[in-house]
Amino acid sequence: MQLLDGKYVSEKVKLEIAQEAAAFLSDIGRKPHLIAILVGNDGGSETYVASKMKNCEKVGFKSSLIRYDLNVTEAELLKKIKEINEDVTVDGLIVQLPLPKHIDPEKVTETIDHRKDVDGFHPVNLGRMMRNLPCFIPATPYGIMMMLKAYEIETAGKHCVVVGRSNIVGSPMSILMARNANPGNCTVTLTHSRTVNLKEMILQADIVIAAIGKKNFITADMVKQGAVVIDVGMNRETSDQTKSGYKLFGDVDFDSVSEKASWITPVPGGVGLMTIVGLLKNTMASAKGEIY
Ligand code: NDP
Repeated sequence: MQLLDGKYVSEKVKLEIAQEAAAFLSDIGRKPHLIAILVGNDGGSETYVASKMKNCEKVGFKSSLIRYDLNVTEAELLKKIKEINEDVTVDGLIVQLPLPKHIDPEKVTETIDHRKDVDGFHPVNLGRMMRNLPCFIPATPYGIMMMLKAYEIETAGKHCVVVGRSNIVGSPMSILMARNANPGNCTVTLTHSRTVNLKEMILQADIVIAAIGKKNFITADMVKQGAVVIDVGMNRETSDQTKSGYKLFGDVDFDSVSEKASWITPVPGGVGLMTIVGLLKNTMASAKGEIY
């Protein structure tokens, strides 16, 4: 088994982004700027946003965090988004999910100007991705594609089974793996909770991408010998054994599956770090006006 090391690849890509950000600052006279909106103080969301902000600063971006408490109205939030859309000094805007029930996430996503939608969730970006046009690719699938490329994983002609069909991970991932590109050119099976014989499906996979949200769901008996295994899962559990007070688990049972996989991502230290790089790359592309 060989590790698909998110730390190694993400640090390498961040150095390249830092060079681009420095050149942008000297040419344009300002730093690329990402704004994150956080509603409430969910532990996981706090951690993810803090990490995104920290990484922005690390590569020479400006980052701003706008906080709302849980009872902010949908109208107030949409008004703020529209205000940010108009601000020419802001390149990227993300609204951390999940949102409280009284706020419609679809409305929020569609209100963000697609040219600042560096999470890549807006229908314009998803539609353009389908058609291979310039767009912001959703940050997690984008990060996974960068990882596959960095390790020169052969994907053409392979059978890729994606487990999970969310709009932010599984569905866009299945489209990217099927595209006529490298990485890509896979035969893709997109599975979900209504899939019959899931184990048999996954056993046929040369590449497994797990985005389910269930700790250690994929076990060694479900995986073909030599498969490439990408674990998107970030399942947080409280723990008195860590400094942070919680522990992260993937959707893949790493200990058993790593004995069969040819390549595998760890959790933590895999896809999560690459997601942040996807976000930074999108923000840089936005600053440079690459998405119209
Ligand atoms: P969602 O909850 O939106 O989607 C989960 C998907 O898994 C759904 O399509 C669901 O099927 C499917 N599923 C659930 N149970 C089963 C089952 N028993 N068998 C087969 N399929 C099943 O999750 P996300 O896509 O947002 O996230 C998935 C995981 O990835 C989470 O752990 C999340 O925290 C993590 N994540 C990690 C990121 C990173 O940067 N590493 C970024 C984003 C997410 P159905 O549609 O039928 O309900």
